[in-house]
Amino acid sequence: MLPSDDIVYLKGVGPSKAKVLAAELGIHTCGDLLQYFPFRHIDRSQQSTIASLTDENQYVVLRGTVSNMQTVSTGKYRERLTVDFSDGTGTLQLVWFQGTKWVRGKLKPGVRYNIMGKPSVFNGQWQMTHPELEAESGEQRVESGKFLPVYPTTEKMKHSGLGTRAMARLTETLVNSLGGIDETLPQGIIERYRLPGRREALIAIHYPDSQQQLEAARTRLKFEELFFMQLDYQWAHSERQQHSAGRVFSAVGDHFNRFYSEKIPFPLTGAQKRVIREIREDMRSGHQMNRLLQGDVGSGKTLVALMCMLLAIDNGSQACLMAPTEILATQHYNTFLRMLEGIGIGVDLLIGSVRPADKKKIKARIASGETHIVIGTHALIEDDVTFRDLGLVVIDEQHRFGVEQRSKLWAKATPPPHVLVMTATPIPRTLAMTVYGDLDCSVIDELPPGRHPVRTYHRTEPRRPLVFSFLKKQIDAGRQVYVVYPLIHESEKLDLKDLIDGLEMVQSYFPRPQYHVSMLHGGLSAEEKAFEMQRFKEGKTHIMVATTVIEVGVDVPNATVMVIENAEHFGLSQLHQLRGRVGRGAEQSYCILMTKDQLSYSSQERIRTMCSTTDGFQIAEADLRLRGPGDMQGLQQSGVLDLKIASIVDDEPLVAAARNEVRDILSADPTLAAYPMLQDYIRHSKNKQLWSKIS
Ligand code: ADP
Ligand code: MG
Repeated sequence: MLPSDDIVYLKGVGPSKAKVLAAELGIHTCGDLLQYFPFRHIDRSQQSTIASLTDENQYVVLRGTVSNMQTVSTGKYRERLTVDFSDGTGTLQLVWFQGTKWVRGKLKPGVRYNIMGKPSVFNGQWQMTHPELEAESGEQRVESGKFLPVYPTTEKMKHSGLGTRAMARLTETLVNSLGGIDETLPQGIIERYRLPGRREALIAIHYPDSQQQLEAARTRLKFEELFFMQLDYQWAHSERQQHSAGRVFSAVGDHFNRFYSEKIPFPLTGAQKRVIREIREDMRSGHQMNRLLQGDVGSGKTLVALMCMLLAIDNGSQACLMAPTEILATQHYNTFLRMLEGIGIGVDLLIGSVRPADKKKIKARIASGETHIVIGTHALIEDDVTFRDLGLVVIDEQHRFGVEQRSKLWAKATPPPHVLVMTATPIPRTLAMTVYGDLDCSVIDELPPGRHPVRTYHRTEPRRPLVFSFLKKQIDAGRQVYVVYPLIHESEKLDLKDLIDGLEMVQSYFPRPQYHVSMLHGGLSAEEKAFEMQRFKEGKTHIMVATTVIEVGVDVPNATVMVIENAEHFGLSQLHQLRGRVGRGAEQSYCILMTKDQLSYSSQERIRTMCSTTDGFQIAEADLRLRGPGDMQGLQQSGVLDLKIASIVDDEPLVAAARNEVRDILSADPTLAAYPMLQDYIRHSKNKQLWSKIS
């Protein structure tokens, strides 16, 4: 059989089973079946005996004979079949509720059987319900191989005679008649990593001779999967490098220099300087830049972005900054206005809530080039926003934007603008390597000096009075406090009720006129939000009770305490983001995680992680480990979730190796002239379109 052969022609399949395989597993060809990997193997050398059974729910293999078959009617068309199974050390009862007729016809006294399943105790006797069962005979691997593959199956499959044993027989038939498996990885890689060949690996992953052979097969197939994923991304990247000319920003001009010498109130950190250099190199290379800027909360990414925008402006272009919320865009706008005062640069804010008449004026200024820097939200990507000459796009807090939205900004200039994507919080190394494999990456791995790490504590309800008296001390010392509530109900009304209950409780501890408490939530208009933010910023309110609208980017250095209510309802990256709202000034800051008493395992782990580290990169790793990639935001289109065998959580060394190999190959041989196999892959890659669209 060849991998491309229709599965219906595999011996033992036929039209009706083929239909089930297609519907349940998406298996259409022999190749698909070959890539349907067992999720584990039963080691038959580890055979048990009935006398030695101790543990319920352990999957065991037993070998013995059957006797005393009995059928009991349990309903109109229902019956129960029981059979005694003995192996010389004891007897166990096998029980079937379904398919009894078929089993009865098959079982023969005197024949030795292997049975597999989970035994349980019923009425003081060992029994096993619906065991996997096979007669011992012949040379076939399924019957006598040391490792029996166990495949994931569905109920529908079982009813159609496609249980895991039947699947094993099919894969066995297939590997015994398999032809046309070509090597796909370059020979050099196979040798360097001592990987088994593709054919050997594909057979061994189903029918290994030893544990080592199985491991080697798994490694090979994981590597292959990650390698081709990297090839997709990096090919797209190198295509762009070769074919999409970028603007050349070679000058460092007045704006940049004046800002640098007159406007920055503090020295840049070493990491900020390095990252600005990397970006500058990109922007004058003649290729379009696509760079990811990673840095922990508070590491000073915004300043880096601003300085890169000045470079673009010094070279005659415009720049834009797209942020995920109006609050954040507005805040960036105010920061930019303040920092750029007197430099002679036109800055505008374009967000949904700007009045239509003003919008029109702003758009006209953008189109004429009078505006050098425009900051905004999604409003920026509307079709009627045109630039005189957009040279640099900065996207803040990347994970909230879809691929579609990004590509719309790309299209606003020819040649396309340079693109700098900033993450809100660090993302795990493996994710960055896979999901952003097509982006170059700069990391700010240093916080500005003089920051005290935020101290984080976990508290439960009985200690609330102590928590509040601590807040009082801080406020009386001139500091400010956030109290944040999660969205729990996914219903604005109920969430608002939580928030208002919270507000009332806070107000009862902190009565007027001595204390001022304000409230911020998504239901307020942009003006109301800006008003509340401004009052808090100016120190007119002491406590800000809020939902997560303050999560991203809000910057009030005098705020030193972040109380997170129902903290168990927040994800790690959100908790980290929220905590990043304090510790931005010179004073020691605190984060207090309020939870109920009883926590689930993963909630406990999140709280424990938060209390034990402030390093965003460590938190990101823990987050990925706890949640798995399936629940991470923004990964739906990344391909990471389609991985068959590799895991970006558990296979980090392989991810890195695959990435490096692809990079080395492409830099030595950008057209893959020496790798016809890889060229062929690129030509047929399903990801090609997606990735060329993004870039
Ligand atoms: P991020 O966006 O990376 O979370 P920001 O750009 O908001 O961080 O910076 C956080 C704070 O640190 C801001 O108040 C900013 O002015 C300040 N900051 C940035 N760079 C430096 C530096 N080199 N030294 C001191 N403070 C800095
Ligand atoms: Mg920021």
